[in-house]
Amino acid sequence: MKPYMVFSRCCGSREGACLVFAHNRQEACKVAWKECYWEITDEWIDVDVRLLKENTDWLFTLSDPAKVDTAHCISVPVSCQQCNKWGDPINHEGCCPDCWDYIQAQRKDNPI
Ligand SMILES: [Zn+2]
Repeated sequence: MKPYMVFSRCCGSREGACLVFAHNRQEACKVAWKECYWEITDEWIDVDVRLLKENTDWLFTLSDPAKVDTAHCISVPVSCQQCNKWGDPINHEGCCPDCWDYIQAQRKDNPI
């Protein structure tokens, strides 16, 4: 199983993307179309898929443990509360590493 990002080719991944665990690109497209297409697009030919190569340990913590060897879709993955992106590990305050660095720098510059 590999993690894939599935999104609208026309709108791009910034407009919304699902996390899909599948054995290959074709399977990822099929699963996304069956389980969560309404989150991304209403046109089959508009579905695009990208293999995610970074933070795979984190991404697999988001998978459904009941579907370890079955392709499945996470339509709304845990995302950063600041920038709404997903894919990077989210910390205990709900932030991705980039936003967390920014917040830490702000706190250092403006101590209470
Ligand atoms: Zn963020």
